[in-house]
Amino acid sequence: NKQWILRRRPTADITSGDLELVETPLRAITDGEVLSRNIYLSLDPTHRIWMSDRDQYLPPVELGQVMRGGVLGVVERSASPKFKPGDLVKPAVGGWEQFTIAKDHLMRPVPDLPGVPLPAHMSVLGSTGVTAYFGLMDIGQPKAGEMVVVSAAAGAVGSIAAQIAKLKGCRVVGIAGGKAKCDWLRDGLGLDGVIDYKGEDVAAALDRLCPDGIDIDFENVGGAIMDAVIARMNTFGRVSLCGMISTYNDERPVPGPADFGRVLMHRLLIKGFIVIDYFPRMAEAMAELVPWVQRGELQWKTHIVDGLENAAEAVQLLFSGGNDGKLLVRVSPE
Ligand code: NDP
Repeated sequence: NKQWILRRRPTADITSGDLELVETPLRAITDGEVLSRNIYLSLDPTHRIWMSDRDQYLPPVELGQVMRGGVLGVVERSASPKFKPGDLVKPAVGGWEQFTIAKDHLMRPVPDLPGVPLPAHMSVLGSTGVTAYFGLMDIGQPKAGEMVVVSAAAGAVGSIAAQIAKLKGCRVVGIAGGKAKCDWLRDGLGLDGVIDYKGEDVAAALDRLCPDGIDIDFENVGGAIMDAVIARMNTFGRVSLCGMISTYNDERPVPGPADFGRVLMHRLLIKGFIVIDYFPRMAEAMAELVPWVQRGELQWKTHIVDGLENAAEAVQLLFSGGNDGKLLVRVSPE
């Protein structure tokens, strides 16, 4: 079983040597266990957090342990009546590894949705879609006609959140890095405005595109971009704090909004959330996401890197903006 082991906690960007690829013999499964051959491994910004020992929402990955990560695989061996070889599964806890062994109650079957490609279960119909859905619907509480700003808008979560906001009748401005991503947001997804934060002044662009202020901030980036958005939020605005990717490589906690007084004066709601909190309500999200996908009303992109051996290099794409859509590693053929 090829596995990536966390050897050293990164201090800034993830570098070679922080992780090591090793090969260990695959142990036999015992009663109630299921062995899956992983097909796709999801690479997520939060992996950088799990590699660190900062205060976080799950225990950090221990040094010497297999790097944790979401996987989708096919059952190869089963010592459980609930699964048989050939079943598609998503283990509750997976890893950067070729094979995953888990108890049957920790294996979730992948629903059979005709016409839906397998990687969609790792993006729009996986945690990515659920994050976008609840972050926008539960915390953002969008109403038709409201102004929504999404940062990292061309990314996996951001692009879904932006489209859901459009489906709910909002006006949506997306912030992303580079012309190609901004063109896709405007021409492909039909956003009302786009801001290339690498090529223009975000504050000035927000003033131009949101002259009546902002009602919802779907925040994926944090730092200066979040500051610029919060400074323009309307009274009773909502900040759905999904992620702060611009700060994950920092050694120390990054201060919050520069103008925190605005939160009081304009009675803003700022709420952080983690998608796992919403897993008990998964069916609610799927009830809207699946029909949107099947009717072709939601678009999504996947950026697939071949080979588990390339995972440690590929994860860095998330921090350079080199990924174009949900970043997945193809561990083995479908
Ligand atoms: P993405 O597909 O959006 O990839 C990350 C993107 O972030 C990059 O492509 C890049 O886009 C952008 N980015 C990276 N560094 C910076 C920076 N310094 N400043 C501005 N933009 C930057 O990944 P995900 O969709 O998986 O994740 C997006 C966000 O959502 C992350 O913050 C992540 O932590 C969060 N998240 C939160 C979850 C939760 O439960 N709360 C669950 C899943 C994700 P660009 O080219 O535009 O710069």
